Amino acid sequence: MKQNFAVIGLGRFGTSICRVLATEQQEVLAIDINEDRVNDLADVATEAIVADAQDEETLRSLEIGKFDHVIVAIGKNIQANILVTLIVKELGVPDITTKAENDTHARVLARIGADQVVHPERDMGARVAHHLLSPNILNY
Ligand code: ATP
Repeated sequence: MKQNFAVIGLGRFGTSICRVLATEQQEVLAIDINEDRVNDLADVATEAIVADAQDEETLRSLEIGKFDHVIVAIGKNIQANILVTLIVKELGVPDITTKAENDTHARVLARIGADQVVHPERDMGARVAHHLLSPNILNY
């Protein structure tokens, strides 16, 4: 079934999510404050928009609350990541995945209602280590 996703932040993590979702024929709105990054995804996403996602009015005007899933893929700017996660939660998004930079950040994100909190580098490091120890098992 086709679902709609908004990906906020188009670094390597957010871009990779957009590309896979688009390949799987899902509706994807891609958002970044950086025009070059948005342009890179213009032919991939259903829609690609330059916007500061910390601006609540912008997210309201994009009707972000109507999306099935929102992925907050802003990383290094922890304050922006937390604020955007909080806004999309308050706008009623039913499923939010957000990227944490460290354990303290992850605790805050869980507390404000993120449904999935991921640590891409840490999680991938753990997967690689498990794979090295048990090469016959493909997924963790
Ligand atoms: P990655 O680790 O995924 O490669 P990165 O190293 O490029 O990411 P991050 O700081 O994690 O850097 O930012 C990810 C993306 O989020 C960047 O493309 C950045 O322009 C975007 N971004 C940062 N703040 C905002 C914002 N307020 N609104 C929209 N996009 C933002």
